[in-house]
Amino acid sequence: MYDDLMGHPFASRNAVLSLARHTAKRLLAEAQEALPYEYSALLTGRGSMVTGHLPMRSAGHGRHAFSWDAPSFFQALASVRKAGVQWVGVLHSHPTTPPVPSEADQSGWHYPQLAYWILGLAGSLPDLRLYQWSDGRFVERPYALADIT
Ligand SMILES: [Zn+2]
Repeated sequence: MYDDLMGHPFASRNAVLSLARHTAKRLLAEAQEALPYEYSALLTGRGSMVTGHLPMRSAGHGRHAFSWDAPSFFQALASVRKAGVQWVGVLHSHPTTPPVPSEADQSGWHYPQLAYWILGLAGSLPDLRLYQWSDGRFVERPYALADIT
C-alpha cells in the first residue's frame, strides 16, 4: 500500500545510515521538552539518509511502547508524500530506561524494512541507537551524523 512512500534504508547490506545533524538536534530538543513523557517522531528522507522528521502525538502515554492514533498517522504520511520524500523510519524516546527495544516495542513493530531509532534519556548523556528488524528481532546497526545544509 505504501510501496512508493516507504523507503528501504537498509536495502544495501553494508550501507551505514546517515542522520542529518540538524534533524538529530531537533529530535533531541523536542524529546527533552516532552519529558517526563515519551516522545516519538516519524523520520523522513531518501535511501539510507534521514533528513527530516514529523513529531507525532502519542495515542497513549505508555512509557514502554509507543503508538500513534490512525488519523495523525495518515495525516503524517500524506505530508510525507506531499513533500516528495519517503518515510524511512521512526524514533521514540525512552525517558527512564536504556535505549533498548522493550518487549512491547518488539511486538508492536509492523514495518520491518524501516529504521527503528530509540533515544535514551535516562543517562547523563543522551544515547541514540539505531535498530533493524532482522529474523524476528531487533539488531543494533551503526549510523553516522551527516552535515547537510
Ligand atoms: Zn520503546
